Amino acid sequence: MANRKAEAYIHDRALHPESLMMGYGYEPALSEGAIKCPIFQTSTFVFPSAEEGKAFFEIAYGLREQAPDESLGLIYSRLNNPDLEILEDRLTLWDDAESSAVFGSGMSAISTTLLQFLKPGDIILHSEPVYGGTDYLLKHILPQFQIRPIGFRAHHYAEDIDSVLNNADLADKIRMIYIETPANPTNALIDIAWCAERAHKLSTDARQVLVAVDNTFLGPLWQHPLKQGADVVLYSATKYIGGHSDVLAGVCLGATELISQVKIMRTIMGTMASPWSGWLLLRSLETLKLRMTSQMKNARYVANFLDEHPKIERVYYLGHLNESDPQFAIYRRQCLAPGAMISFDIVGGEAEAFRFLNALNLFKLAVSLGGTESLAEHPATMTHSDVDPAERIVMGVTEQMVRLSIGVEHPEDLIADLEQALALV
Ligand SMILES: *Cc1c(COP(=O)(O)O)cnc(C)c1O
Repeated sequence: MANRKAEAYIHDRALHPESLMMGYGYEPALSEGAIKCPIFQTSTFVFPSAEEGKAFFEIAYGLREQAPDESLGLIYSRLNNPDLEILEDRLTLWDDAESSAVFGSGMSAISTTLLQFLKPGDIILHSEPVYGGTDYLLKHILPQFQIRPIGFRAHHYAEDIDSVLNNADLADKIRMIYIETPANPTNALIDIAWCAERAHKLSTDARQVLVAVDNTFLGPLWQHPLKQGADVVLYSATKYIGGHSDVLAGVCLGATELISQVKIMRTIMGTMASPWSGWLLLRSLETLKLRMTSQMKNARYVANFLDEHPKIERVYYLGHLNESDPQFAIYRRQCLAPGAMISFDIVGGEAEAFRFLNALNLFKLAVSLGGTESLAEHPATMTHSDVDPAERIVMGVTEQMVRLSIGVEHPEDLIADLEQALALV
């Protein structure tokens, strides 16, 4: 187990993450005995002495080696803050990561991480579709720094990646394989271990080819990319980790050697989370497993209902993969449960999809996902509206498609809402 503190064990037995979310990494005696970590709403910290202030900076800026018994003192909240440090320790437990870094949003986690590892002349191979903000970063921002994105289709990842690798001029420049799996909104799966194997073959002593996985859809409960060989895991913590649609945040996890590099870029770009966001996430983590388990169970009822409905042509749900489908083998290897994201094609087109969306009551018509309340949206005109229309069709994002994020409501109420809305179509 990576860098777990002694309090994570009873004798030699490692405690499960959900047992540690209430107190791990927090010492009540340092905060007047408060059972919960206070919000350290402060920009700067008072040094005990000038000598200690000097020592803190030497470690923070890597001016000398850290002594084995020496820890980095608190300096300034752009570098470190107790709420963020405790949160980072707790987040490592779910993915069994050595280290983590918390950011002000999912996009700041992704952009800071990519800018740290990619240099002019590098190629980043990335899955398609990816989250809209990530797509813009890859195609419009990174090229300004002479970093070239090459996309591969989620459904054809092996042939697309291998055709790039067979071109020696391109293969030599690849610095990162960036994966979003399951793909939004189609739930197409990409084999993380397969990509990691290709990346490790391409790596040389001089240049490590990193595999980064945006694990927002299934993590941190139902998919653990580091165990599949990924180097870096990224999250929009705005979604399941935050879970209440009331905070924006992001996370990057991996080996300490990589995360300490990401933290240098975070310090300089100022993309860390605020103490208040950190505190909200600490509170959210206590119920993470309860929420994600309840959402996952609800989604199964909803998907079963949709599958039977005559006004629905096709349901995209990981729990309904057929054993003969090659995607099923990937699912069995890298996913622990189907999660709570469901898309479906309604019979008809945009007009029918809109009639359905406008008729919903309990489901709210909104983008985003992973919160306690159920949401519905129309990918073609909302989350994926800036994707080239021809490319959108290739990805399987049609005018008929509706995407659902299932919350913690009673499943019978969710189904009743869907049923009455479908009746009005
Ligand atoms: C929402 C989302 C992001 C962006 O996260 P923000 O917190 O909105 O910045 C990135 N990736 C995926 C898969 C997302 O769903």
